[in-house]
Amino acid sequence: MRDPDVLVIGGGPAGMSAALEAARSGLAVELVEQRESLGGAIYRQPVEGVPAIPQSAGARGRWEALSRAFSTAAIPVRFGSVFLGVDGHGYVLVEDRQKGLVECLSPRAVVLATGAVEHVHPRPGWQFAGVSTAGGLQVMMKETGTAPRGSVLLAGSGPLLIAVAAQMARLGNPPLAIVESGDPYRRIMPGLGMLGFPKLLAEALGYLRDIHLHRIPWLRGSRLFRIERQGDAFSAVVRTGDGNQSTFVCDRIGLHDGIRPNDYGLPPASSEAMADPVIVRAGDCREALGAIAAEADGRRAGRLVIKGVAASTAGDMEQIDRQRRAQALLSKLFAPLDDRSPLDELADDTLLCRCEGKTVSDLRNLCQRADSLTGREVKHNGRFAMGACQGRFCAANTAALMARFKPEAPAPAAADLTGRRWPVRPVSIGALVRAASQDNDTQ
Ligand SMILES: Cc1cc2nc3c(=O)[nH]c(=O)nc-3n(C[C@H](O)[C@H](O)[C@H](O)COP(=O)(O)OP(=O)(O)OC[C@H]3O[C@@H](n4cnc5c(N)ncnc54)[C@H](O)[C@@H]3O)c2cc1C
Repeated sequence: MRDPDVLVIGGGPAGMSAALEAARSGLAVELVEQRESLGGAIYRQPVEGVPAIPQSAGARGRWEALSRAFSTAAIPVRFGSVFLGVDGHGYVLVEDRQKGLVECLSPRAVVLATGAVEHVHPRPGWQFAGVSTAGGLQVMMKETGTAPRGSVLLAGSGPLLIAVAAQMARLGNPPLAIVESGDPYRRIMPGLGMLGFPKLLAEALGYLRDIHLHRIPWLRGSRLFRIERQGDAFSAVVRTGDGNQSTFVCDRIGLHDGIRPNDYGLPPASSEAMADPVIVRAGDCREALGAIAAEADGRRAGRLVIKGVAASTAGDMEQIDRQRRAQALLSKLFAPLDDRSPLDELADDTLLCRCEGKTVSDLRNLCQRADSLTGREVKHNGRFAMGACQGRFCAANTAALMARFKPEAPAPAAADLTGRRWPVRPVSIGALVRAASQDNDTQ
């Protein structure tokens, strides 16, 4: 089979629009998506036989237009396939998870559009089964069309919490409360600034209407700072805005403290047009700016792989800049009222690295050594970011805490702990060996 000219990784709005743009110029394009359907995080599709949960009119319209254009273009998609990385010879490695087969492809260009991941601050008890990310609960609702069961507490910060709360309410199980460390009602100037973004504002007001209709307490300026087991349930200890403490007994907790690019282990974008293959990033994995920017950024990336640096991307850049301004306003609107970092008040036995069971005090001890350890040495000596997730969930928090324990040392980045190398995802040695022998046979 012929290698595609352009291989796009990720079937969200960024990847789909990049693939469309490149295909329009007559290039052979293929898209790789690890799931069984397109849509990415925002337009996640329900499993077969389940009706889609109601989306805002804007999101529904954007998805209908994008998915229609994509199916008209008849771009081949490798579903259930995972991008593993680019090897030293420039081969792009893709694993078909159903067949357990790794293929080595040789496209001229690769667009990486792997989206964003949620950021969650560590808290004592956050490792318990039944505590997940709020976005994880949302994905479950989008796929199954049902709200999570039992009494659910949402906590952290950001607009995603109110979106999830409203969606739960619409599906018949409003959360017990939303614990929000910011207070948008007190941030007057950013609030006024949002008037310049009427569609985003209308979406947020729709969520707030449902929250008020269902009388969901929105505890602003409050922090969930400890989770304890209480029989089969949890007791979640919250410091409220007025300085008091309250405890919520609940069955599940959804945490969310923002999103950041899902750039774990990705090869860097090419700095020159003659690279082999040319690598371009698009959407939230380049800069987490939301779905509208992701679609514009996908088009920009698609044009870039066709025409190189000479591509005209001005219209899309304007759109991206506008969304960047909106995200900056949202960050100010939801900025925590208490400017102490939640990392400063963690008890010593709080787990940082859940895979390896490493705690705050384990990290403190490493940082107090006379020989100042780098991020990489903390990984090798302390096993932080060394477990099954390879640092996906703990590296950013570990790096931030290292900087607080050793303010005089150069601040480490999460990538210092995780490193940048393939495979991006775990792969069986058998699948790699089979790929290597196939490659030898064709030479
Ligand atoms: C959990 C979560 C919930 C969100 N909910 C909302 C919301 O309610 N409203 C809103 O406006 N915005 C929401 N956002 C933000 C919004 O989803 C994004 O801004 C937008 O979807 C970004 O588009 P994208 O194409 O860059 O990435 P995504 O839409 O995330 O698409 C990335 C795609 O890449 C695939 N992928 C990732 N890694 C690999 C790999 N190695 N191999 C193959 N495929 C891979 C993923 O399966 C996914 O389909 C949410 C974000 C997250 C993380």
